[in-house]
Amino acid sequence: MRAQPSASHFIDGDFVEDTQGEVIEVIHPADETVIARVHAATPAILERAVASAQRAQADWAARRPVERARVLARAAATLRERNRAMSELETLDTGKPLQETLVADAESGAEALEFFAGLAPTVTGETIPLGGDFAYTLREPLGVCAGIGAWNYPTQIACWKAAPALAMGNAMVFKPSELTPLCTLEVARILTEAGLPAGLFNVVQGAGAVGDALVRDERVAKVSLTGSVPTGRKVYAAAAEGIRHVTMELGGKSPLIVFDDASLEDAVSGAMLGNFYSAGQVCTNGTRVFVQRALRERFLERLAARSVAIRLGDPMDEATQMGPLISARQHETVMRYIEDGRAAGARLVTGGTAPDGPGYFVAPTVFADVSDDMTIAREEIFGPVMCVLDFEDEDEVIARANASEFGLAAGVFTNDLTRAHRVVSRLQAGTCWINSYNLTPLEMPFGGVKLSGVGRENGRAAIEHYSQVKSVHVGMGPVEAPY
Ligand code: NDP
Repeated sequence: MRAQPSASHFIDGDFVEDTQGEVIEVIHPADETVIARVHAATPAILERAVASAQRAQADWAARRPVERARVLARAAATLRERNRAMSELETLDTGKPLQETLVADAESGAEALEFFAGLAPTVTGETIPLGGDFAYTLREPLGVCAGIGAWNYPTQIACWKAAPALAMGNAMVFKPSELTPLCTLEVARILTEAGLPAGLFNVVQGAGAVGDALVRDERVAKVSLTGSVPTGRKVYAAAAEGIRHVTMELGGKSPLIVFDDASLEDAVSGAMLGNFYSAGQVCTNGTRVFVQRALRERFLERLAARSVAIRLGDPMDEATQMGPLISARQHETVMRYIEDGRAAGARLVTGGTAPDGPGYFVAPTVFADVSDDMTIAREEIFGPVMCVLDFEDEDEVIARANASEFGLAAGVFTNDLTRAHRVVSRLQAGTCWINSYNLTPLEMPFGGVKLSGVGRENGRAAIEHYSQVKSVHVGMGPVEAPY
């Protein structure tokens, strides 16, 4: 077994096994071999995880923020030191090429730990003068937070949730996707080695049912999910029963608008990054690429030339630029969408094929002449499938870009400064890029509008989603009572 972890779960500062739980086989998507076996959490495991989180939280919350920050900063340093090992494990688990995981996964996780370590000691309340009396506010932790992750960025998602939660004095119980259970266990190990007290970051394995049980646990105060809209609906509804706080980072079908005055090479680079990175399994991908008609043919020509040159192959080879999709099921889904695009009359510019197995590979695919009503232009595909649509003028493209139930992200390529800001101000999206795409520095809040989610991760904004305000009124004079 190439990547067998010490045990399935991490609870109360240690690896924990319970073979009573259903077996989960972890498959390397590039060769379909089983690389590890873990067990889903039984109710007894879940109980231990939540109970230990609850036990540990009060003491952690009572510490000075600088002390909490010190632990997070140490964990960030270790994560960086182990970047290669973490990246190799992430590549085995997800199939994403090492070329990407070496720079995007543990790296972003370390940044999250550093950023929230820096922020923690700066969070203060306010003083509110009331004549003689006054009031002040305290920003307090929520308690035990549940984190539930998707399979595309396991390390990053765990760190983006754990860092602000722990910085603000909360505990977290995290359930990774059953498809990618491995790296989160290493994050837990590193946090513990950095001095995080036992119980504050627990990892439990399992599929949706384990996530559901966690969300419904009375001791859980907040739920942060990264996943699809259908799962988001279920988790949001379950959390609502207990009036729990939620952060929902869900799916998208984001528009990327290319005006004819844009730099052609930059726009093509942006469109490729926004469709082919991680084999297209990125929530913010700009999968509806609107290109102004005068530029369309030149754009498609460069795009096709550069797309066919993408090196698919063994993701453990650092020269490989695109790996497989996560699973046989995802592969089937994406191939079905490609068939659907063809049948609907979209023009296949490049790709559309699945290289012979083993491995869940799909060639980078570009459709042109896509119209707004086609299924491939409306639904999230989550694979390397780009839809190119054309447009004539600004008002038209904004209306069409916004005509989606999603609102995660959007991008604009133009060299007209005022147009760039004007267009962005009218786009219905939580995260926008001007002359760049898919960059998510930790300093910048990240999240969606409409069906793409509620709440924000990263930036100062995340602090509000892992804490609550207590108001304290202080009477300075005699108490006036009418009786
Ligand atoms: P899913 O929605 O299938 O799963 C997300 C997580 O929720 C998994 O851990 C899953 O468990 C768990 N889950 C499923 N059902 C329930 C339930 N009823 N209660 C609690 N937990 C449950 O998403 P994918 O893993 O397929 O990820 C792809 C999706 O994630 C895409 O839509 C993508 O856009 C979105 N995403 C959003 C991001 C964002 O930040 N906005 C970033 C990355 C991805 P299991 O899978 O183990 O069954």
